[in-house]
Amino acid sequence: MNCPCCGSGRSSKAFDSIEPGFRVQQCSDCGLGRTVPALRAEELGKYYPETYYGRENVRFNFVIEWLVRLFRWRRARLLRRLAPPGPVLDVGCGRGFILSYLKALGCEAHGTELSDAAAWHARNVLGLEVSSGDFLSFPRGPGRYNAVIFWHTLEHLPQPFEALALARDILKTGGLLVAAVPNFESDQARLFGRHWFHLDIPRHFTHFSRRAIEALLSRLGFRIVRLDHFSFEQNPYGWLQSFLDALGFDHNFLYDVLKDRGARTRRIRRHPVQALLTLLLLPPLALLSLLLLLWETARRRGGAIEIYAVKQ
Ligand SMILES: [Zn+2]
Repeated sequence: MNCPCCGSGRSSKAFDSIEPGFRVQQCSDCGLGRTVPALRAEELGKYYPETYYGRENVRFNFVIEWLVRLFRWRRARLLRRLAPPGPVLDVGCGRGFILSYLKALGCEAHGTELSDAAAWHARNVLGLEVSSGDFLSFPRGPGRYNAVIFWHTLEHLPQPFEALALARDILKTGGLLVAAVPNFESDQARLFGRHWFHLDIPRHFTHFSRRAIEALLSRLGFRIVRLDHFSFEQNPYGWLQSFLDALGFDHNFLYDVLKDRGARTRRIRRHPVQALLTLLLLPPLALLSLLLLLWETARRRGGAIEIYAVKQ
């Protein structure tokens, strides 16, 4: 099967996944990775239980929750500055923070989510208009939106290339496409391989490299106007959790402990020694991860990248 980003017919196995039964196949020319075999539609529910979204869609403790809101607010302001004023669609809008901030900044804000459970917070707490179901099946008029956002959602879609083509169709000429994805050719991805936190297999179908997404957007008629390698929200944690996983701790132990109280109690009771060791290692590893954030940004090899592209 030819690479959907660059058209190359050459690929090789990168590694077997930590999650048994899956491997990553990588394009030899643009570096695009794909999870093989891809999850079937009927298996999705097993990997997105309601706890994935958190109780009433609250996922982390309050300090992290406060930081998440701050990052979303800054992102909404940047998007408002770069996109022409008008309707905005957030594909996989999650709890809806970006949309609610965009609405506060005067935009007409719409969202999509895979399920009603995932859309609960955006709809019922923030009162946003969110459609649930497969993005590809939503009929929308061409040239309807001034901006379409895929914030860490493209990698979760079984057909990301078709989704980007649909986004191009529903964008006005001059409209803004915003996408954030983990970078499969980042320093952290290369160093940690199958232990890299942002692989998230099998929920991630596709592992984009910067080269791959640049090639794809250019093929679809977009011009990239901004590409950031600095993501305070994603990249230091990518280093930190990958270090812990590579050291042999139970897979994503810290992530699960931070995520919600129920998981915390269960995981700590099951692995008290790991909990203590994690606590001891946390200060030096967190400091190292912050230094590596600066390093990877200077090298333009960020663990996650953020792309802003204009439809031509
Ligand atoms: Zn390729």
